[in-house]
Amino acid sequence: MAEPPGIAAGDAELTNAGLFERACAVLPGGVNSPVRAFGSVGGTPYFVARGQGAHVWDAEGNRYIDYVQSYGPGILGHAPAAVIGAVVAAAADGTSFGAPTEREVRLATEMCARVPGLEMLRLVSSGTEAAMSAVRLARGATGRNKIVKFAGCYHGHSDSLLAAGGSGVANQGLSGCDGVTPGAVADTVVAPYNVVPDVDGDTAAVLVEPVAANMGLVAPAEGFLEGLRAACDRAGALLVFDEVITGFRLACGGATEFYGVRPDLWCFGKVIGGGLPVGAFGGGRELMGHLAPLGGVYQAGTLSGNPLATAAGLATLAALDGSAYERLEAIAVKLAAGLEGAFGASGVDAVVPRVGSLLGLFFGDGMPRNFDEAAASVASGLYAPFFQAMLRRGVALAPGPYEAIFVSLAHSEADIDATITAATEAAAELA
Ligand SMILES: *Cc1c(COP(=O)(O)O)cnc(C)c1O
Repeated sequence: MAEPPGIAAGDAELTNAGLFERACAVLPGGVNSPVRAFGSVGGTPYFVARGQGAHVWDAEGNRYIDYVQSYGPGILGHAPAAVIGAVVAAAADGTSFGAPTEREVRLATEMCARVPGLEMLRLVSSGTEAAMSAVRLARGATGRNKIVKFAGCYHGHSDSLLAAGGSGVANQGLSGCDGVTPGAVADTVVAPYNVVPDVDGDTAAVLVEPVAANMGLVAPAEGFLEGLRAACDRAGALLVFDEVITGFRLACGGATEFYGVRPDLWCFGKVIGGGLPVGAFGGGRELMGHLAPLGGVYQAGTLSGNPLATAAGLATLAALDGSAYERLEAIAVKLAAGLEGAFGASGVDAVVPRVGSLLGLFFGDGMPRNFDEAAASVASGLYAPFFQAMLRRGVALAPGPYEAIFVSLAHSEADIDATITAATEAAAELA
């Protein structure tokens, strides 16, 4: 790829370190999303030159088995032929119109067919927008202000939802965020995950990640989701499942199908964009009728329902039939067992939580059930050296202890075996 004119392309500038130096001059922290800066694992981020299947190659030509997979969208692995073909074909017909297109109808129809109870949705361009708009809709529909969220759950970076967020917010050691006014979070109540909170008559909505995947991986305790459903029903509040990670990943019908609990509203993202910028929020027909142009809750987007993004999403969902979820889970089961074996052999205490194909990694001997317990595991400080030891062996985990491990359908037996070998050596190094 030719360098743009005006930028000298000396060899040093194409190393990871050289690129990071250039990046830091023009992008705050050198990145466009904080966790990518390697702040919580140390060292210089690798700059990805390309990806194929389970692998990425950095600017220096090093190959990594990739468990970041864009934090979820890469469920088929990188650059799957069907998705690339669909995007290229769509691009040739124009990339954005500001008028409705058939693919939007097809993607919404496909999503509603898969998720039990989902009748209508609106496409947006990120998970952040989906959660932000779902909150507005919940407030507009109920006429109530208060929302309840759980510590360590991440719902994107909109002001009212940044209180006690997981993922990058937690990595930065920020309890909240500069620039978010007390007023913006005044109606946000933060409760501990896995305990059903008091839900009162002022509450518009309870937002939850049905499997928490932004404080490491924390499964919902037995009865937690059912308890939320019942508490919301008693109070007349809406239950919102943020399925941006779990949607179309845990099962065809996401966490809703996996756990058999139906929310009133859903947020989606990641998988449904097949690597392009997409989000969606949806619910029952009556509730969605509050949205403009049918109702009084305004929400809009220049690139919403974008032709390339909907083409990528449709091609991705087409590859995700029931057998795909079985294969994905089998890959995760094998990796989880291998990682547990690696730590067992080394004598380093660690647990590998797994829900379906979603995996996590916590150092210590207990299985965290909430953010405080996850944070106690992170305080061991063992994630960073383990991450670096894996990276040196060609395995890319997420550069932060609060992220999940994402397997894709492109991870082969050989990739998993190589990962387990690397983990066995890395764990021995830690011991
Ligand atoms: C990633 C994520 C979001 C935000 O999605 P973006 O596309 O990054 O804005 C929201 N909720 C959950 C559960 C997520 O994992």
